[in-house]
Amino acid sequence: MDRRQELTQQDLAHLWHPFTQMGLWPGEPPLIIERAEGNWLIDVEGKRYLDGVSSLWVTVHGHNHPAISAAIAAQLKDLDHSTLLGLSHPLAIRLAGELAAITPAGLSKVFYSESGSTAVEIALKMAFQYWRQAGRPEKQTFVTLEGAYHGDTLGAVSVGGIDLFHQVYGPLLFPVHRLPQPHCRLCRLGLTHPACDLACAQALEPILQRHGQEICALIVEPRVQGAAGIIVQPPGYVRRLWEIARAHDVLFIADEVATGFGRTGQMFACQLEGIEPDLMCLGKGLTGGVLPLAATLASQRIHDAFLGRFDEFKTFFHGHTYTGNPIACAAACASLELMRQNDLVVSLVPRIEQLRQGLARLARMPHVIEVRQQGLMAGIELTADKAGALAYEPGLRMGHQVIMACRPLGVIIRPLGDTVVLMPPLASSEQEIAHLLRAVETAIAQVTEGRQP
Ligand SMILES: *Cc1c(COP(=O)(O)O)cnc(C)c1O
Repeated sequence: MDRRQELTQQDLAHLWHPFTQMGLWPGEPPLIIERAEGNWLIDVEGKRYLDGVSSLWVTVHGHNHPAISAAIAAQLKDLDHSTLLGLSHPLAIRLAGELAAITPAGLSKVFYSESGSTAVEIALKMAFQYWRQAGRPEKQTFVTLEGAYHGDTLGAVSVGGIDLFHQVYGPLLFPVHRLPQPHCRLCRLGLTHPACDLACAQALEPILQRHGQEICALIVEPRVQGAAGIIVQPPGYVRRLWEIARAHDVLFIADEVATGFGRTGQMFACQLEGIEPDLMCLGKGLTGGVLPLAATLASQRIHDAFLGRFDEFKTFFHGHTYTGNPIACAAACASLELMRQNDLVVSLVPRIEQLRQGLARLARMPHVIEVRQQGLMAGIELTADKAGALAYEPGLRMGHQVIMACRPLGVIIRPLGDTVVLMPPLASSEQEIAHLLRAVETAIAQVTEGRQP
């Protein structure tokens, strides 16, 4: 038995993979990644693949970047771990200051955790407890968007709106108000942008007029609903929501776990919209895609509602064991330093334009009904019949077929249903983006038109 077979056997014996139908897993021998170089993943047999999913939307500067690796190694000589419960350490302090400096004005306090989901849980609990302690304890409900994705823990699932992921847990979830999904092609209100004047955002107004007294916060993935299939909102949409929420004394939570750190072409999507959220969730790209670290940023006003004597019990009673791990903080500081050195946001401009041009070509393919892009995140939605806008039978798993056809072409990506998602590392070169586009075009043609490779 060779090494790949041996590892495969052990994988099948003991590993339960996330978001994976394990019944089908043995049918497709797993791709086992052993090494990485720059933006490329290398499997146990030495085959190279462009990391077109940025290892689930996290990779910024490429894998194993020497500056981040060196920062981690240096930190390991000083301090591997020490708790933030009752103690502090220099890297957590430094990173908190840097995050407060680069995020929208007003966000001045940083609360660490380890995943996007926990960053969201923390924001929800902070918003809820804020109103209890600000004298409005009746403000307890959240407003969210149809198709939203905020993570997989129960609070995050409650404010999520992806039926495929969330339906089964219904009895465990708390009720929320939902706004229509801002997806212009499939407008739930039957309107056309821009004549609609953002009616889907305006839909927040009557909800808050009627229920504002009981609503504590609105949570939004600003500019792009990622897991919904890279649904890009029209410009001004998020700002409209923010203005309405503010006018009704409802907190605004920006979930920038996916959109943060340059992914949208701006450092944060909130900056594209010129808004100042009360709470912001960060994760994914925070450490450059190297270690699990997340952060929830809060305004001074929210933070100060938690101040009091001990026996007033206004403390934020929340904290994970590894919160603010020093090694993860060191990786994040090194990543932010690289972003400054490389002028990340400016460096992205030509790559975003290159992706736009490539996507325009893909949009003309007979089985592509829509391409959606914001910065270096893109979705290519497949259709059985373009004129009739017919979806494929879900059982055909067309998106999955396309991403599997990309593998022999040297590209790893992941679909969301029948939307092929492109999420290249932010440090991708011109050649790498071209390689990605070429492989995806070939794979879509092969799978949808039966064209031979
Ligand atoms: C990925 C994601 C999350 C959840 O992050 P995890 O680290 O997987 O828990 C939350 N919100 C958004 C917008 C995301 O894309």
